[in-house]
Amino acid sequence: MDHNCLFCKIINGDIPSTKVYEDEDVFAFRDINPQAPVHVLVLPKKHIACASQINAENSALVGKCFEAVAKIASAEGLEKGFRVINNCGKDGGQSVMHLHFHLIGGRKLSEKII
Ligand code: 5GP
Ligand code: ZN
Repeated sequence: MDHNCLFCKIINGDIPSTKVYEDEDVFAFRDINPQAPVHVLVLPKKHIACASQINAENSALVGKCFEAVAKIASAEGLEKGFRVINNCGKDGGQSVMHLHFHLIGGRKLSEKII
């Protein structure tokens, strides 16, 4: 745990959140400022700062996050589709430096960025 990290504090229960999923490696909770009817943040419990820090030692955790994405999407009724977004670093618009994936859905989403 990184004691200066907001999401580590949320995972640890020091800061409250609306949890939607948890297993040994992954934690997921509702975004405080939702951009769609469903907006869940899915993250590894292990502190990895951002996507540029993914490597051979920790990449299995990314797979675990995406297994959780599929389970949460199903539980949230997103059969018609959803979007997964990761912002990395300053230019990528990342505001919390603990790797996380935004799972967004529940309505027809806006134009794609790419
Ligand atoms: P980023 O900008 O780093 O990709 O995403 C960070 C996300 O965390 C934002 O969408 C923001 O709304 C969310 N967020 C920031 N602080 C909190 C918090 O204390 N609780 C919850 N549930 N979400 C937060
Ligand atoms: Zn952290």
